[in-house]
Amino acid sequence: MAQKIDGKEVSLFIKDKIKNETEKLKNKTGSVPGLAVILVGNDSASHVYVRNKKLACEYCGFYSESYELPESTSQQQLLKLIDTLNKNNNIDGILVQMPLPAHIDADTVINAILPEKDVDAFNPSNVGRIMLGEYSFLPCTPAGVMELLKYYNIDVSGKECVVIGRSNIVGKPMAMLLLHENATVTVCHSRTRELADVTRRADILVCAVGHPMFVTADMVKDGAVVIDVGINRKPDGKLCGDVDFESVEKKASFITPVPGGVGPMTISMLMQNTLTSYKLKVKRSQNNGI
Ligand code: NDP
Repeated sequence: MAQKIDGKEVSLFIKDKIKNETEKLKNKTGSVPGLAVILVGNDSASHVYVRNKKLACEYCGFYSESYELPESTSQQQLLKLIDTLNKNNNIDGILVQMPLPAHIDADTVINAILPEKDVDAFNPSNVGRIMLGEYSFLPCTPAGVMELLKYYNIDVSGKECVVIGRSNIVGKPMAMLLLHENATVTVCHSRTRELADVTRRADILVCAVGHPMFVTADMVKDGAVVIDVGINRKPDGKLCGDVDFESVEKKASFITPVPGGVGPMTISMLMQNTLTSYKLKVKRSQNNGI
């Protein structure tokens, strides 16, 4: 039976470290990191995510601003708000909650955020840095997965890692972070042939597909580490991941539950990025003699 990886515990551990560091920095500088979160429209899941990000800011001792804008907000209005926040010295991170309404182009919006305030690490310049392995901002969800592996002393080096999913937010940066830690990485997607043959090779299997019960026990090697990134809603309204937890936990050595696995980690990594952004700002102003 697999050991359950407790994302809530690890997330709290990280947030406590951030909180302590923030307190120390506040004593030195008199200021704290600031995060602005923008939500456009009425997506109920997005409202929950934004509320959780606000709560995490409060926990860590950050300053936060949240903007809940109506569905009818124009792209121009949103860009104007981003421009104001780009110029606001109290704001170190700007996060625009995805998905955006169809009339707003997400790429244009992401590109409008200054790279040094892009705490989601979605801006092409930050994405490029992740590829090079020379980054300040962590890709939040994949970095959260790496922290879970580290906390549970699961060594990645030399391991066969299979990532199912190749999105820009999860699958691709996940593969990069595993590669930077010397894993042998295979990325699967909807055109992958004989998927189960590939996944059964995995010492570490990361699933980011978005289909409930997608990964079944026959797709998993005995003793594999199974990380479930998926967040899906069942017909009864309850959350579930991409993995058939009940059958897979009997075969795996470690497994993340949904909820309570990768989800809480994404938010702690966002807090980590906001703190990093703040520290870089303080360093820049010290270098400029301000
Ligand atoms: P996307 O829809 O952008 O990507 C899904 C990926 O799964 C695609 O690459 C797609 O392949 C692949 N896929 C779909 N069907 C199959 C199939 N039959 N076989 C193999 N691969 C398949 O989703 P995201 O990456 O944004 O998110 C994935 C899941 O993770 C979602 O449930 C999302 O809610 C969750 N999520 C959780 C987060 C957290 O904090 N825990 C954060 C972000 C996302 P192709 O490219 O060929 O279409």
